[in-house]
Amino acid sequence: MCQNSCQLVRRSRHRLEKVFFIIATLLTLTVFAVLLAVAANKQATAGFLKETLAAEYRAEHPEAAKLSEAEILNKISDEEKELISEVEGLNFALIALAPLGVVLLIVYSVGKIYGAARANGIRIHQGQFGEVYAIWAEMAGKLGMKTVPELYVQNGNGTLNAFATCILGYRAFGVIYSDILERALANDDEAALRFILGHELGHIRLNHVAWWYNLLTMAANFPGINYLIGLPLSRSREYGCDKLGFALSQDEGQRGLLMLAAGKHLYRQVDMADYEKEHLGKGGKWAAVHNFFGSHPNINWRIAALRQKRHGDVFWARSGK
Ligand SMILES: [Zn+2]
Repeated sequence: MCQNSCQLVRRSRHRLEKVFFIIATLLTLTVFAVLLAVAANKQATAGFLKETLAAEYRAEHPEAAKLSEAEILNKISDEEKELISEVEGLNFALIALAPLGVVLLIVYSVGKIYGAARANGIRIHQGQFGEVYAIWAEMAGKLGMKTVPELYVQNGNGTLNAFATCILGYRAFGVIYSDILERALANDDEAALRFILGHELGHIRLNHVAWWYNLLTMAANFPGINYLIGLPLSRSREYGCDKLGFALSQDEGQRGLLMLAAGKHLYRQVDMADYEKEHLGKGGKWAAVHNFFGSHPNINWRIAALRQKRHGDVFWARSGK
């Protein structure tokens, strides 16, 4: 059973996802270990910090050469004083328990999203939009999932979106916004629907929504570092799910992605030959700038990766086909 689905999953995962995942995990573990080590030796660390800051002050202010360390520590900047008090205030037990706190926070945030889907959405199952559920369940089976995740449709008020997530120890579920589902059904566009639903199942199957994945990669999303690790990791995840969505849908015309680009009505009128000429196979500095700040790759880069059957570009689009 796993042979086919496992192969498909392995082939689909973006080649850089593991690299970014390992870097992110090492970074998170390092930050955690350093904080624990500093907290365990906070007096010694604070003492070292005070000595260093006093020595720096003396070097910059020769008139302070004869002042005591305590006198100098009164004169240093407020930021430096705050740093010392932060180190002195570190609590080993609290830091050791922080991962548990983060997990509880993840459970709380996802629980709220699940609550919103239950409260304000409609559950899709055999008895409700049964044809959509049949597609969802069939694709989950093809991905080797033992349990079919729950699926909901929620009013998107014009927003075209879908997502999947997982409550720790409880259940994984997907949500598709009404505008996508409504148009796909009205247009009898099963390929686009399959692509979008398959993409979301991909996030669950590739463990992107697992608590441990998000805990281990947490430090990659710290401000600043996110541009170098967190966001590229996220973009590589999207490419992997696109590949799974494509494998499950055979959406040859990339209608699912074109819907995001041109909207729910116009997407069917897009001329792919012209789109290819205008938007694919070209570099583009500003497109790369836009991509750099995004959690999702540029739509034309995603379409290029699927049409050219290759791993998508994470930072910079290669030009030519
Ligand atoms: Zn996605």
